Amino acid sequence: MSTILQAKDLCRHYEVKKGMMGKTQIVRALNGVSFELTPGKTLAVVGESGCGKSTLARLVTMIEEPTSGSLTISGRPANASDRELRQTVQIVFQDPYGSLNPRQKVGSILEEPLKINTRDSAATRREKAESMMRRVGLRPEHYDRYPHMFSGGQRQRIAIARALMLNPKILVLDEPVSALDLSIQAQVLNLLIDLQKEFGLAYLFISHDLSVVKHIADEVMVMYLGRPVETGDAQTIFADPRHPYTKALLSATPIADPTKTQQRVRLEGELPSPLNIPTGCAFHPRCPIAVERCSVDTPLLRPVAGREVACHLA
Ligand code: ADP
Ligand code: MG
Repeated sequence: MSTILQAKDLCRHYEVKKGMMGKTQIVRALNGVSFELTPGKTLAVVGESGCGKSTLARLVTMIEEPTSGSLTISGRPANASDRELRQTVQIVFQDPYGSLNPRQKVGSILEEPLKINTRDSAATRREKAESMMRRVGLRPEHYDRYPHMFSGGQRQRIAIARALMLNPKILVLDEPVSALDLSIQAQVLNLLIDLQKEFGLAYLFISHDLSVVKHIADEVMVMYLGRPVETGDAQTIFADPRHPYTKALLSATPIADPTKTQQRVRLEGELPSPLNIPTGCAFHPRCPIAVERCSVDTPLLRPVAGREVACHLA
């Protein structure tokens, strides 16, 4: 199927001032990210907290503009004032407590996008809201309830339903199950998989946890300090990760198959600040196999065993 979104070399830098008289510093939150989204497919973006995932989400949903790079959606340049294009991309956040208005009933939360963007009659809006509620596993009597009356998982169903009210083509899911219990996570992930099939949605699925994306991802992009370090087919990467950072992320997650032994790669130290990105390979200070060259030369993504890896030693 054809591409619905194309991102080329996206960068997003923020200027911050240290203290009252402090000089301006630049936070390099995103440093050159390229990818494509395809209808019916999921690209998972994975990396530790602070590596730029939510920044990427804000660019793709046109909440913010990139500092440089290009973003094309449905063949058109991304542009926040293009209303039709904005409707094409919707987002679901980690925290449905924060993203749902506590004073609005579910029915009104779901109908609001229709009220603002369509000329649907009240009866049509209600019909569409009720149909979407059914689709995401909410019951008709939930229409008149407030968000606080729901569990975390159900609240996330409300947020997903709201995101789908305007028939988007792309859903950005920013840690959509990270706040939920494990058993509830699986239910919400299965719902997302069903909805993707039904509506042919392209997903940009963001998670700090590689194990969460295992069953939903078609492709994976592992990020470190604003850059992809390994990207490609999900099965290929899960079966045989090649970047030391991907290996570390994978060995941090429990394995389901006890017959498989796993070499643990421990991640030493903290994620450096994006105010002060290490020279050469940004991962080198924490890398178990780094050599001298790694602190000098910045590795670019290159094809390695059927995927792309940014590592001199892969
Ligand atoms: P993630 O979602 O992967 O945890 P974020 O995209 O939220 O990462 O943040 C990436 C980096 O950019 C972090 O160091 C964060 O502090 C910084 N950052 C994000 N937004 C801003 C902003 N508006 N101003 C300054 N720094 C920011
Ligand atoms: Mg985030």
